[in-house]
Parts: sequence; structure tokens; C-alpha cells
Amino acid sequence: MNVAVVLYTSDLRLHDHPPLRAALSSCDRVVPLFVRDRAVAAAGFAPPNRQAFLADCLADLDAGLRERGGRLVIRSGDPVAQVCALASETDADEVHLAAGVSAYARAREERLRTALEAEGRRLHVHDMVVTAVAPGAVTPAGSDHFAVFTPYFRRWAELPPRAVTAAPRTVLLPEGIGSEPLPVRGAVTGVSPALAKGGETEARRLLANWLRSGITRYEDAHDDLAGDATSRLSPHLHFGTLSAAEAVQRARAAGGPGAEAFVRQLCWRDFHHQVLAARPETAAEDYRARQDRWRTGPAAEEETEAWKEGRTGYPVVDAAMRQLRHEGWMHNRGRLLTASFLAKTLYVDWRTGARHFLDLLVDGDLANNQLNWQWVAGTGTDTRPNRVLNPVRQGLRYDPQGRYVHRWVPELAGLPAPQVHEPWRLPPLERARFDYPERLVELADGLDRFRRGRGTG
Ligand code: FAD
Repeated sequence: MNVAVVLYTSDLRLHDHPPLRAALSSCDRVVPLFVRDRAVAAAGFAPPNRQAFLADCLADLDAGLRERGGRLVIRSGDPVAQVCALASETDADEVHLAAGVSAYARAREERLRTALEAEGRRLHVHDMVVTAVAPGAVTPAGSDHFAVFTPYFRRWAELPPRAVTAAPRTVLLPEGIGSEPLPVRGAVTGVSPALAKGGETEARRLLANWLRSGITRYEDAHDDLAGDATSRLSPHLHFGTLSAAEAVQRARAAGGPGAEAFVRQLCWRDFHHQVLAARPETAAEDYRARQDRWRTGPAAEEETEAWKEGRTGYPVVDAAMRQLRHEGWMHNRGRLLTASFLAKTLYVDWRTGARHFLDLLVDGDLANNQLNWQWVAGTGTDTRPNRVLNPVRQGLRYDPQGRYVHRWVPELAGLPAPQVHEPWRLPPLERARFDYPERLVELADGLDRFRRGRGTG
């Protein structure tokens, strides 16, 4: 009997899973393992929303494995120590793992390789599990990554797709392997009230619905804040309950302008992953430093608190921040305009906002979050680093009827659009009817702060 261990990380699925497939093709017994990594929790990367979603994902993965004769083994601690212990317990010859892009994931891979090789075992690291295309698979002349999206997209789209595979029929473990109990979603406290459900079964249901009825409207409606016409697949892509390669291929097969626009967004995901893989320090440092002198001190801290709580006095900003708290998810247009408001209008360091997003977002992802924040703050890959989104114009354009604001800012529910986007313009007596905060800052003053801080005006 030969044995392989498959270490699950951000790839919590059975369908289209190259590490599991490879392990099953070379070994007759396979141990699917998930390690609850204490270092991840200690670094603040396991906040309640993602812990709760993860519990769903692990339960669903375990159920899928049980249908196939196996089960998921759960251990806690350092993944390297846990994998080595399990490998020696089962006398496994090989360990399979999806390649990661963060500095932490890469260091884990290296530590694991060294530890396993010292015991005469092999580590197989598989590309194209977390992303549709492997970071570094396409590069421009003279660099290890693309810094501009459009040429990346062109090259990315030309690559031949890898074969998408079905879930295995059978997964058998060796006898007598101990496991800790599965974490339980209900035991996690501090979870957003309307957090989405996790798990591969849910991911596949959402994808099927999306391809059947959502995707055709995507190109026209993806920016409509109230319409909520995006796929909401981001947490599934983050936890790997859905394969990005499969999502790309099935969307391409669906065809049409909506599918093309959707595939382009999936390419943005790969784009940010290849930037982080090549420049792991950009999780915390500016990709392109602009000599920003970010505001600090009590006034900046108070304004940041108001931003987090959704009481900036700009209705569309507040609506989006409240959606984040309630659902653990925010519409992309909301992410763009709230991030711009913090980093450009309030002129507070993007890292402060990125941390808050990571604390709440169920799809909170180092590559996508940090590099989108940098894109908005103008320290990243955006070719227009001084662009500032005007929250009033954003509201009028992407929430023309004010339905998004009415949904999330009930204090203003009685105020129709377009006035709902500028309540400060109401005559004082009418304004007093609404228990809604005054603006933290006037937009012209915000623009001045930004220009002075960055030294552009
Ligand atoms: P759809 O519009 O249906 O898009 C499909 C998929 O494409 C998404 O699920 C996502 O995986 C990918 N995608 C879409 N837009 C982007 C983008 N701009 N960059 C990278 N991938 C994209 N996305 C995350 O997954 N995790 C994050 O932590 C995250 N933080 C963000 C922070 C800021 C400041 C901004 C501006 C964007 C952030 N995004 C993040 C990107 C994007 O907002 C979300 O992926 C998207 O809103 C998720 O909703 P959806 O699945 O309905 O997206």
C-alpha cells in the first residue's frame, strides 16, 4: 500500500483539484488534511466571518469525501510539523499541495519541502489550483511580472486552457487515522448577520445559477449598486471551493458579452496574484511609492472610525460601509468608492483601510485586497495615480434612484434621489428631519489635503 497526503489550504474542493487527482493516480490511499494554522490566526488573518465561512467549507468537503469512502482529517498547529507527523504516522511517500502566492505560503512550501526531503519523502507543489493561470506563466520582456493589466490580459487570454477535471469517485484513507472534530460555524462569535454560506456544494450551485441567468446582464449591470448583479463568487474563489480555471472555461463556453466581461474580472484576480507572487512585500509596502505624507493623529483617527461605522455624511459611502459590516461582503463599486474616500478624500494610509476590509470581508484576500487598495490609493498598478472618485457623482451615476442608499441608510429612506446623495443641500428645516451625520469634510477640502500631502498641487 502506498500513501499520499494532500494538504488543503485555499483549495477546499473535490472538483478540478490537481493535487488530489495526482495523489490518487500514484497512491492507493490518500489522506486529505486540513491544518488549522495557529500562526494565521495569531497574525489576525482568521477573523470571524472567514472562520464561519471556512467551517462551512470544511464540513462540505468532509461530506463530499465521505460520499467517496473517505473523510477530511483535521489537525491544529504548525502545518509543516503536522504534515510531517501525519506522513510518518501513515508512512506516506508523497505530499501534494497547491502553490500559494503570499510570502507566508511560499515560506511554508519551502519549509515543508526541506522537512519532508530530510525524511526521504517528496513534496509536489501544483500550479493553477488557486489561480486560472500560474503566476509567472506569462511575463513581459525583461520582467518577472506584468505591471499593467491590458497587456497581461491579452497574453493570459491566449494561453491554452488546462484540462478541467471531475471530482474523483473514490478516496480511501489508510485505517486508524485520528482527526480533531470539524469546526462548527455556529460556535464562531462576532459573525456578520447576513454572511453567505460556504462550501463547494454552494459554490457549484451559485456558479450554475450565475451561468444560467446572471451572466448575460453582467456587462451592463455590474456597476449598478442596488441591482446587485455580480456573481458573488468571490468568497468561493478565495477559499477555493470553486476552481478559477473551471469558472473561466464554463463562462467562455456560455459565451456573449456578459461572459467576456466576467472572464476579464477573473483575469484581474490572476493579475493581482502574479503581482503579489513577484513582489510579496507589496502586501504591506507601496508597489510604487508616491512619497505620501498620510494624515495621522486624533482627527484622522476619528474620521477613520466614522468611515468604518458608515457615518461619514456621504450617503453612498456610508451605505457601502454598512453593507460590509452586515454581510461581510461589499459590491465592487462600493469598494472602489469607499477606498477612494479613505485614501484620497480623508487622505488616510491605504493600509488602515485594507486592514479593516480584511477584518470583515468573507473574501478577504491578500492579493486582491492589498493590490486593489493600492490601485485605488495610487501607490499600485493604476496608471492614473492621482484620480479621486467623487462620492456624490459616484452615487448619482451608480445608484441613480437611491435604492442602495435607502437599503443601507434607513435614516434617509424618505429622501428621494437625487437629493439623497447630497442631503446637506436641503434647506435647514428639512435637513433637520433626517437624523443623519454632517459631512466629515467638504470634497474641495479633501482634494486639497490629498494634493498637498502628495505634493501634486
Ligand atoms: P464579480 O464581479 O462577479 O467578479 C467575478 C470574480 O472576479 C470575483 O469573484 C473576483 O474573484 C474577481 N474580481 C472581480 N473584480 C476584481 C478585481 N478588481 N480584482 C481582482 N479580482 C476581481 N476581491 C476579493 O476577492 N478579495 C478582496 O479582499 C478584495 N478586496 C478589494 C478591495 C478593494 C479596495 C477593491 C476596489 C476591490 C477588492 N476586491 C477584492 C475585488 C472585487 O471588488 C471583488 O472581487 C468583487 O467585488 C467580488 O464580488 P463578485 O464575486 O460578485 O465579483
